[in-house]
Amino acid sequence: MEERSQDGEGSGAAWGAAFDPERFRREGRAVIDWIADYWQSLDARPVLSQVEPGWVAAQLPRRAPQTSEPLASVLADLDRVVVPGLTHWQHPSFFAYFPANASAPSILGEILSAGLGVQGMLWATSPACTELEAVAVDWLRDLLGLPERFGASGAGGGMIQDSASSGLLCCLVAARERALAAGPEMPVVYCSDDAHSSVAKGARIAGMAADAVRRIGVDPQGRMRPELLVVALDEDQQAGRRPCFIVATVGTTARGAIDPVAQIAPLARQHGAWLHVDAAWAGAAAVCPEFRPPLVAGAEMADSWGMNPHKWMLVNFDCHCLWFADGGALAAALSTKPEYLRTAAGDSGAVVDRSDWQIPLGRRFRALKLWMMLRMIGAEELRKRIRDHVAWAAEFAGWVGADPRFVLLSPPNLSLVTFALRAGDEASARLLAAVNRGGSAYLSHARVEGRYALRLAVGGTITGRQHVVQAWTTLGELAGDLAGPGA
Ligand SMILES: *Cc1c(COP(=O)(O)O)cnc(C)c1O
Repeated sequence: MEERSQDGEGSGAAWGAAFDPERFRREGRAVIDWIADYWQSLDARPVLSQVEPGWVAAQLPRRAPQTSEPLASVLADLDRVVVPGLTHWQHPSFFAYFPANASAPSILGEILSAGLGVQGMLWATSPACTELEAVAVDWLRDLLGLPERFGASGAGGGMIQDSASSGLLCCLVAARERALAAGPEMPVVYCSDDAHSSVAKGARIAGMAADAVRRIGVDPQGRMRPELLVVALDEDQQAGRRPCFIVATVGTTARGAIDPVAQIAPLARQHGAWLHVDAAWAGAAAVCPEFRPPLVAGAEMADSWGMNPHKWMLVNFDCHCLWFADGGALAAALSTKPEYLRTAAGDSGAVVDRSDWQIPLGRRFRALKLWMMLRMIGAEELRKRIRDHVAWAAEFAGWVGADPRFVLLSPPNLSLVTFALRAGDEASARLLAAVNRGGSAYLSHARVEGRYALRLAVGGTITGRQHVVQAWTTLGELAGDLAGPGA
């Protein structure tokens, strides 16, 4: 039998289908308390979940309950089953992948979005959902120093999608449609060797041939080499293929390299290809004027530019911001307006139905969490956090560089440090496994010029300098056993 909830009479009774405001207040507070306790407990937990495959599922009943269970028993299962099965992304010692940081204002925005329960597929299905998003995304464009042509006032615009992968796919489909309208030649996509996997995945989903994605070589810092792009574009043009879509990465996953967008943009224009800038992680740093120039260089010539506030800008997952110069090109590729989606406002042309710019029809009210984060945290604090993270990564890189057992595989780019053990790939992989098993920090890996690379990405909301120091201490201790005799 389930225990009765402690928080008073009636809480164990069935919820029923009706919305009970008094009970919602009470149980809502209990859930908020649970979340606050969780954040307070993070520092003491192992970052990476320690469970074996299948453990979580084995703790849960095979069938859904026939009758209502009280919140207290659900929360008890959350503690007993779910939390041990979590890798704690909000842990201050989470340095893997790119952290997906979150903030109290954005979490409250997410709760409000669920509480309103609106679906903003058309302007008319909630004008505030469309218009607040346009405003919040334009505020962010301005804070990042992105050009006016992505602004809400002209042909361009900005929107929120679930992910950088989806945003890229929508732009790729728009580019493909544009290319096919120009002629039947096979459309070709270009990105660097170090570009994100979402480019190849997007091309596959868009029905393009496997050999339609051309990988362009990178320089020793991991940046696309424009002179090799020129060769590839010319080859394709001469072979009767059509350059269609070029992805420039601002902040590659392996080592944070920034492709020279300002040199790539004129080539895109010359060949009639759509230029998309993938700044999913690094784009956030453009709020700081001192980091901005290389991040936004060439943006005024790009067709689309995307970044994820859900990585390094305190908006809880998911929130991708995509700006584009020509909303009409996206709508031409993606809009289908059956009778049941027609409205007077949409037909009049006075509003844009944002479902015309994305894959799903339905739209969550994600703007609330971005808007609340921007209002309640403010740009000054965003800049301060990014500056701190970059400074701590530079310090960490200094420690790595000064330790003869280690080698830096790249100068730190913003808050990402890529490094290895001199003893080789196997030792580096064993070090990573040992650190992550220990639970006091979580790092991930990549390949840099064929070498196994450890990555430390600073970006957690509650990460402090002491956590970066601790990660280095742990690495140093565990490396002692792995660096080999005499090392
Ligand atoms: C994280 C990342 C992506 C993928 O982001 P999603 O939003 O998860 O699709 C794409 N490109 C780069 C450079 C990234 O850092």
